[in-house]
Formats: sequence, C-alpha cells, structure tokens
Amino acid sequence: MNAPETLTLASLDTASFAGPQLGVLGDPIAHSLSPAMHGAALAALLPTHPELAGWRYHRLHITAAELAPALVRLHALGFTGLNLTVPHKIPSLALVESLSPEARRAESVNTLVATATGWAGHTTDGQGFLEALREQTSASVAGRPVVLLGAGGAARAVAAACLDAGCARLTIHNRDAAKAVELAAALADPLAHGAGLDALTALPAAALVVNCTTLGLKADDPSPLGTVALHPGHFVFDTTYAVAPSRLLRDARAAGAEGCDGRSMLRWQGALAFRLWTGILPPAEPMRRALGEITP
Ligand code: NDP
Repeated sequence: MNAPETLTLASLDTASFAGPQLGVLGDPIAHSLSPAMHGAALAALLPTHPELAGWRYHRLHITAAELAPALVRLHALGFTGLNLTVPHKIPSLALVESLSPEARRAESVNTLVATATGWAGHTTDGQGFLEALREQTSASVAGRPVVLLGAGGAARAVAAACLDAGCARLTIHNRDAAKAVELAAALADPLAHGAGLDALTALPAAALVVNCTTLGLKADDPSPLGTVALHPGHFVFDTTYAVAPSRLLRDARAAGAEGCDGRSMLRWQGALAFRLWTGILPPAEPMRRALGEITP
C-alpha cells in the first residue's frame, strides 16, 4: 500500500500521482514507521472501504529549508493529507492557512489536511499521547505530577494535553532552559513550571515522567534523566521508539518502575490523523503489527 521509495523536493518536480496521496515529511525520515503503519491501515480497511483503493502514503525527506516550497508543491500535486515530524512541527505554524484549537494551544502541528487553497494545521500528538497512556496504565494523568523532558513540538502538545487532563503539576525540563521557561509561560497555567534539564535532581513520588527529547532514538543515547533516580510508582512514557528499549526505559525497569515506549502514541496519533483525512478511525491490530509494538 505504501510506496517504498523516499521522495525528495527535487523528485517532486517530475512526479505525478493517481489517486489520493498522503505522506510524512521529516529530516531525518528513514527511521519513520509511519509509512508502514498507514500502509497497514489502508490495506486492512480496503475490503470494507473500497473507496480507499488507490490511496498511498509516502515517505518524504524534506529539510527545514525545503518545508515551505515542499508544502506548496505537495498541495499543487493534489496531496490530501500530510504528517510532519522533526524538525517541522513548529516552523509549519507559519505556513498553514488555519489551525485547529489543539494546534493553536500546543503551538505545534503534526497533521495537515488539504483545503481548496492551502493546508489546515492540526495536532494529534496530545490526544494520541493520552489515548496511549490510557492503554498502557490504569493510572491516569488526573491528580498526578508530570515531569516532562523536552520543550520541542511533541513536548508542547503533551504539555497542553496533561494540563487539560488535570495533572497535579507540570514541570518541564529542557536542555535549553529558556525554551522550557518559555513553554511554561505560553501555557499560561499556574501548574506549569519550566527549568533546565540539569536542574532536575529528584522526581516526585508517583510522577509520570514523559520523555519528549530525541534522546532514545539511537541505541547508545544516554538517559535524559542522567543519574536522577526512578522508583516503583513512577511511570515512564518514553515517546521515542527504536528497535531496543531506550536507556531510560531500561533504567525504569531496573528500578521497578513501569513504562512504555512511543509506539502506542505513534499508533494513536497516526490513527487520529488518518481519521482527519478519511473520516475513518482505522483498526489497531494491523497498525500494531506494522509497528512491532514492544514494552520494556
Ligand atoms: P523537536 O526537534 O521539536 O524537539 C527536540 C527536543 O529534544 C528539544 O527539547 C531538544 O532540546 C531535545 N534534545 C535534542 N537533543 C538533545 C540532547 N542531546 N540532550 C537533551 N535534549 C535534547 O522534536 P519533536 O518535539 O518533534 O520530537 C521529540 C521527540 O519526540 C522525538 O524523539 C520524536 O521521536 C518523539 N515523538 C514521538 C511521537 C510518537 O508518536 N511516539 C510523536 C512526536 C514526537 P533543546 O531545545 O535544548 O534543543
């Protein structure tokens, strides 16, 4: 269902497509599981939704400098919808013609839906995170302290979702402390606080720790928590995903804490994006299989 090759801005110059087209834009993009996941969803739905025949989901290697011309070109080529990943979630805010309330609140876009004249920007990261968390643990965000690591596009969406879901307190720690402080201020909620990653010395009891840094994507990445201790009762939601569990998740398991990697969130944010494009919430199992979902 999905095209195996990686498209680039240059290759779009000579490209033409038949049928509704979807795709994910990022840099890097080779690691993305979105094409496999959406391809599996399209294939599974085909028997009951023959109107999806001809839909394709592409992988597009688009750098930060190429985002604006790529969006213009993809719209002209008749693409129906797009996903955006690193580093496009924040720069795209300035390139869309409208924003959903969630994207406006999170100041982050991960899903584009074509309109007659441009792109409508949405984010499904926050809701995808909450749906995945509900699946992975019976303990909800409500009343729980959240320690959020990172202040990029994914962190913005997760931060807004945690506040909306009634967390007891949200502490955002980022390598660049100014960005964490800025994000906390933008959320305009007295429960939100920002600080540097190096200012994190201990975790509150029963904290939900959410990793929205890129540390964990590579096998030899260190834990973003450094030497900060995890304990039973903590839940670690690492939004990264790789072939093997991250150092953060391995530390969580060793400390008797629960946790999960980012595949369930990836599946949920993808399923919610798919619904924005097609009106259909795809079945979980084929997407799960395509992702090879693992828990620590
Ligand atoms: P951004 O580029 O917007 O943000 C990257 C974040 O990572 C920043 O907070 C940055 O800190 C931090 N960071 C980068 N390198 C380091 C480092 N060496 N040490 C500490 N912090 C570092 O990316 P996104 O927010 O879009 O994505 C972040 C992560 O979330 C990715 O790993 C992505 O895979 C994951 N994600 C997963 C999803 C899922 O569905 N599972 C959905 C969306 C994202 P600084 O500001 O200091 O540079």
